Amino acid sequence: MFFENTTCLRCGTGLGFDTDQLTLVRFDNTTDARRCANQAIAVCNWLVPATDPDPDALCVSCRLTRTRPSDSDKTALAAFADAESAKRRVVFQLLDLGLPLESWEDRSRGLGYDLLSSNGVQVVTGHEDGIVTIDLAESDDPHREQVRLDMGEPYRTMLGHLRHETGHYYWTVLVEPTERLGDFRALFGDERADYAEAVSRHYDQGAPPGWRSGHVSAYATMHPWEDWAETFAHYLHIRDTLQTAAAFGMRIDTAEQVLSADPAVDVDREPFESILDDWLPLTYALNAVNRSMGRDDLYPFVLSPAVVRKLAWVHQLTLSHVGHTPTSRAA
Ligand SMILES: [Zn+2]
Ligand SMILES: [Zn+2]
Repeated sequence: MFFENTTCLRCGTGLGFDTDQLTLVRFDNTTDARRCANQAIAVCNWLVPATDPDPDALCVSCRLTRTRPSDSDKTALAAFADAESAKRRVVFQLLDLGLPLESWEDRSRGLGYDLLSSNGVQVVTGHEDGIVTIDLAESDDPHREQVRLDMGEPYRTMLGHLRHETGHYYWTVLVEPTERLGDFRALFGDERADYAEAVSRHYDQGAPPGWRSGHVSAYATMHPWEDWAETFAHYLHIRDTLQTAAAFGMRIDTAEQVLSADPAVDVDREPFESILDDWLPLTYALNAVNRSMGRDDLYPFVLSPAVVRKLAWVHQLTLSHVGHTPTSRAA
């Protein structure tokens, strides 16, 4: 069973994702849930409570979307469904971490998504006042690959964009209004640095030489806000991939380290460095597997000690949040 399934491939039983249990459940007439109204348009396999009187009730993920393409734009709607699928992975992680999930409908500057196509109009991927805007043209593989090459990036995906932009939102929730702002500045730099100036410097001169010793990506060097968003996204990459490997019972034996398979890798444990003892051998193996298929490395990153310190801070920050209760396995 995969995260995206709507039926069991073996027996044909209907499946849906239960957002309370954070797991796929059998979906038939005996459950007290029904399918999200976006089942067709967003290929959504999440469930809503059957007690919800609204026949068009949306699941917790679909509800976060504020704007989508019009029904007449078939190309954009296909890209929208892909983006919603990636977004469900992100929302699953937010629920799994117990991070506060206040939507744009609940409060001003709450979290929302505008999923729009730049075909004919200008759409700039970014975050502002809680709203994440995604250019759906990025779900088109040739377009995204061209941008990736133009920007000299080793990794560019719709899921990565969603994690990055969602990270900007969580900076305004977990860092900005808290006493952690000082620690943030000590690790990531002072975010009061002029942003527009930082953007033009980055596009004029690129990342400074030796950037890998302090940053997880070249883009992260642009401004402390971008460093945070790149680090937050990277943290979600590691969690998701480790949880998936554990759900499949993957086991990596190296000379010194063994990725524990069952029981599930505990991605909530501390210190964060002990999670890397599982993570790094897994990435070496997955990169080797990709090379056997003639593909680029699945994980084209190097984690310097400074980057590990930032990731560990994000780990500690998300785990210390009151809503967090350790859970869960996802594939
Ligand atoms: Zn839905
Ligand atoms: Zn950003």
